[in-house]
Amino acid sequence: MTAEETISNIAQEVSACTKCALYESRKKSVPGDGPSNAEIMFIGEGPGFHENEQGHPFVGASGKFLDQLLAQAGVTREDVFIANVVKCRPPGNRDPLPEELDACDTYLEAQINAINPSIIVTLGRFSMNKFFPDAKISAVHGQMQKVGGRFVIPMFHPAAALHQPALKPSILGDFAKLPEQLNEARVALGKPIVEKVKRKTEEIPDDRPKQLNLF
Ligand code: URA
Ligand code: SF4
Repeated sequence: MTAEETISNIAQEVSACTKCALYESRKKSVPGDGPSNAEIMFIGEGPGFHENEQGHPFVGASGKFLDQLLAQAGVTREDVFIANVVKCRPPGNRDPLPEELDACDTYLEAQINAINPSIIVTLGRFSMNKFFPDAKISAVHGQMQKVGGRFVIPMFHPAAALHQPALKPSILGDFAKLPEQLNEARVALGKPIVEKVKRKTEEIPDDRPKQLNLF
């Protein structure tokens, strides 16, 4: 099975899933969007009101901000895979419960395995806790760490930064570091620079060092 087929099968399964109580109130499940060969995968918390209506991740206010943040990193939604730790909306946007996180984790694991990203960016503490159960986000945000065969970078949740303006420079700064961290990750993992990226690099007309312009 190709990665694309696996990703689409997971989305099918999620849409019919009844493994936790969140299925009862969902309108649309939100399995995640993006190319199945994405080098960067973002993992948020869970669908909110608009995501539950539309079936796509980060389409509300925090999604608008996420688009700005992606632009800081020189990428667009078409370049990255965006998922959540729970695929169905917790009622009233409450925090997901431990048993809901557990039940939904098999889908997230299957997505990570199929996509095999070089970098996972966790957005907020629930996805950070999957990889670093005891970490404090204020201490480790923006720091890339090796986890198994890939790298994980915890970042603040865009919604947190929207509500606490003091966090905005931090999250913008963390996203701006992503291109450099992706290069580091590629080198460390022995992954080649993909064709699309090379072409974009060649199109850049000025003489800035190419290493900094790999997007
Ligand atoms: N917040 C999230 O964590 N995920 C979404 O998909 C939307 C908002
Ligand atoms: Fe299934 Fe995950 Fe939805 Fe719970 S949140 S019903 S585990 S898809």
